[in-house]
Amino acid sequence: MAEKIQMKTPLVEMDGDEMTRILWKMIKDELLLPFVDLKTEYYDLGLEYRNETDDQVTKDSATATLKYGVAVKCATITPNAARVKEYNLKEMWKSPNGTIRAMLDGTVFRAPIVVKGIEPCVKNWKKPITLARHAYGDVYKNAEIVIPGAGKAELVFTAEDGSVSRELIHDFKGAGIIQGMHNTDASISSFAHACFSYALDTKQDLWFATKDTISKKYDHRFKDLFQEIYEAEYKERFEAANITYFYTLIDDAVARVMKAEGGFIWACKNYDGDVMSDMVSSAFGSLAMMTSVLVSPAGVYEYEAAHGTVQRHYYKHLKGEETSTNSVATIFAWSGALRKRGEMDELPALCRFADKLEEATLATIEAGKMTKDLALITSLENVKVLNSEEFIKEIRSTLETLL
Ligand code: NAP
Ligand code: MG
Repeated sequence: MAEKIQMKTPLVEMDGDEMTRILWKMIKDELLLPFVDLKTEYYDLGLEYRNETDDQVTKDSATATLKYGVAVKCATITPNAARVKEYNLKEMWKSPNGTIRAMLDGTVFRAPIVVKGIEPCVKNWKKPITLARHAYGDVYKNAEIVIPGAGKAELVFTAEDGSVSRELIHDFKGAGIIQGMHNTDASISSFAHACFSYALDTKQDLWFATKDTISKKYDHRFKDLFQEIYEAEYKERFEAANITYFYTLIDDAVARVMKAEGGFIWACKNYDGDVMSDMVSSAFGSLAMMTSVLVSPAGVYEYEAAHGTVQRHYYKHLKGEETSTNSVATIFAWSGALRKRGEMDELPALCRFADKLEEATLATIEAGKMTKDLALITSLENVKVLNSEEFIKEIRSTLETLL
């Protein structure tokens, strides 16, 4: 067997929970360790260890990501009341993704993995559409009041110097509702930087849309900040890379997206991104075929699968039953992280390995060998449904022929 591919800087490895933790180990054993002299700094974000460390391990893993620049993360449980009981938790720990996103000040880019045989519902979509969702503010940090009866509702801003500005919301004649929301120039700007950098990094056009014709101050601020930052810092580089930045109204964007062939990044405000990412991912076929990368304005990257820990499959696995869990998005999280590490450390062999790993994964599916979730939606005939482990082993044998 050939020499293993060498690494320079370690990847930050964030292990996780349930079925994805099982897949994580299989992927490392079958697809990575035999080929790469894998260097990682390991953080166990499995719920038991988060609880044991009072969630310090999550913060440590984010700090390490800021230090090294590239992380790969397994899906993790976000505790709810049922999990507090199940794992006998000291506290209902926060979502690790939320903690990491806050520490990295990042934007999440989600992209479908496009493969022959899994056709998008929208037949003209030929290339992936990457969705970038602003992850701060608006309706997610709102203040609301149920108005019991007649009265006047106002927006009031009191500046530090005591001066006050007011704006009438509505003169209520009877019962109703009001809502106040906000965003900050700092957060919008860092979202804009993350989007422009990622577009340059992946050489794709960037689309951004809001409802600035109706929201003449709020949404207009988003539009203006994007435009100012684009002109001041990115326009020339976009032109040199032969890609475009394009702003339009959100309703126009939706109409154009349906008619487009893909291959671009669609930046969305928080709520639009929440809704549109579910629409785009289901239209592309499967959550198990969706990757996700958190990009910080400082140029730090964290790769993961978009799906969760696949709890139902894990309980089957614990009972000794066979599972057919799709590992593609988790494999692509590893290949994405290895490729980025290779680019940063100037290791072309590592980048090439990442390419081949993805190629082998797609070739395996295109040869009709896949997990059950894909078998249910594929347009291919004569499909062989594999269990979780068989699928990864099948990818390994394809990979061996490619290397
Ligand atoms: P989930 O793990 O994404 O799974 C939901 C369902 O989608 C599964 O039961 C399965 O359907 C299907 N599915 C998802 N990924 C699949 C895969 N790789 N292969 C085959 N089928 C797949 O979501 P969940 O069950 O709502 O959440 C489970 C846990 O994950 C929760 O504790 C949640 O907090 C956590 N979570 C973590 C992240 C993250 O770390 N990024 C994201 C979301 C959720 P069938 O059962 O019909 O086969
Ligand atoms: Mg949602």
